[in-house]
Amino acid sequence: MLTGSEYTASLDDGRCTYFDGRVVPDLVAEPAFVAPIRAIAAGYDLHYSSEPGATNPLVVAPRSLAELRERATVVHTMDLALAVTYGSLMTLLTAAPRMSGVDPVYKDRLESYVDEATQRDIRIAECITDAKGDRSLPPSQQHDPDAYVRVVDRKPDGVVIRGAKLHISAASLVHDLMVMPTKAMKPGEEDYSIACAVPVNSPGVRIVNTTFHPRGDDTRHFPVSRVHSMPDGFVIFDDVFVPDERVFLDGETANATVFAHALGLWERLGGLTAMVTQADQLVGLAQLIAEANGLARVGHIRDKIDEMLIHASLLRAGLEAALTNAHATPEGYYYPDELFTNVAKYQGAAQFHLMVRHLHDIAGGSVLTSPTIGDLENPETGPFVEKYMRTMEGVPAEERMRLFHAIRDLTADSYGGWHLVTNLQSGGGLYAQRIVARRHYDMQRAKQLAMESAGIAPVHR
Ligand SMILES: Cc1cc2nc3c(=O)[nH]c(=O)nc-3n(C[C@H](O)[C@H](O)[C@H](O)COP(=O)(O)OP(=O)(O)OC[C@H]3O[C@@H](n4cnc5c(N)ncnc54)[C@H](O)[C@@H]3O)c2cc1C
Repeated sequence: MLTGSEYTASLDDGRCTYFDGRVVPDLVAEPAFVAPIRAIAAGYDLHYSSEPGATNPLVVAPRSLAELRERATVVHTMDLALAVTYGSLMTLLTAAPRMSGVDPVYKDRLESYVDEATQRDIRIAECITDAKGDRSLPPSQQHDPDAYVRVVDRKPDGVVIRGAKLHISAASLVHDLMVMPTKAMKPGEEDYSIACAVPVNSPGVRIVNTTFHPRGDDTRHFPVSRVHSMPDGFVIFDDVFVPDERVFLDGETANATVFAHALGLWERLGGLTAMVTQADQLVGLAQLIAEANGLARVGHIRDKIDEMLIHASLLRAGLEAALTNAHATPEGYYYPDELFTNVAKYQGAAQFHLMVRHLHDIAGGSVLTSPTIGDLENPETGPFVEKYMRTMEGVPAEERMRLFHAIRDLTADSYGGWHLVTNLQSGGGLYAQRIVARRHYDMQRAKQLAMESAGIAPVHR
């Protein structure tokens, strides 16, 4: 296993990453990357064991319902790179048996890759979303044939891929990129049916980063983003060689969605788990700021908080149902129920803006305009800030200001915007969850109940 400092040192491996229009020669020295690297390193230290052959217990596939539940609750509290690595490895293990009928060599490669990645204690990013070009056209009919990642050359010992994967969480801060098709492929789209693992420092890989980490010297009034930001990567594959043993699908169009389906499930379970905590956090912020503003007993404020807590509790119920109704692969690995995972994730994403609307409505304009802690410390402005930002006995100005800063940073500022869109899009937009929900919903039963209520004889239609 790696220690945090070994992880940090491992990033100096010749990888080619960019930020704000310039190359980043030393990731650790880039201010916007310091906090996320530190968070990932802390995750390494937390689970480190010097025992020979030890592996991180959190990335081992759940073998029972209890283990699935336990992992789900801890995974979202881990740093994002570890959470995404868990999702990647579980995706590969869920996909492996489905690929054995296609070509047993894929199953063997998948299982040995998972073993090796676990042993080496590496972090992995999920690379599924292509540039996609004109959304109305399939990959093979795009104006630019590279709009979806594809194989451009086949060598005796591997393939060469070209294209780009966009929005990839933590791409610059992990070791391997797990590449897979983003959608179903048709005959004629064999070159686009490629799944493989690519080291970040492979020749031809370039990553352009974006981040909503606070910029500026005093990050104290960004209490959330200064700890939790994580760069997203625009990952370019400019004719990258991938050896055969890292190729898990190559040309089998009929199986192109195996990985995406498996990934979607684990990604949405992770998203849902985070949303459950996040929803309670928003309820807590609404209640605390209502109390600090002297409004906690007012009818319309209470109504809004009630709506928020009902939504938060239903999300928790959805997660419970997804875990309680888990299924097992033939190898005995447990995965959550598809229907409950997808409908609850859908609900969490679709209603997030309403939660934020209620919170902003309750909190007031200081969400945006509260002075900073620096203003409170400034001897010229501090006494006035203290005087006018406090509301009553027992509510110091600083405490109320910190609540406003947290609400702004989490929901109304640069990182808040990231948060809003991420909730909607990561793991696929709302439509992606609706498709899976419809596929797994028992429509026959619903129709049967409807026919009974209408006194219509049951027919199969
Ligand atoms: C912060 C963040 C982190 C992310 N992390 C990752 C990651 O780690 N790995 C990864 O692979 N991806 C990641 N994603 C990408 C995410 O999965 C995609 O943003 C999402 O799937 C939508 O794809 P898109 O952005 O290309 O939008 P589009 O595909 O353009 O979708 C926009 C809208 O158009 C609709 N649409 C698109 N095509 C069609 C069509 N043919 N017919 C009908 N409707 C259509 C969609 O349903 C949606 O409503 C991340 C996204 C964000 C914002």
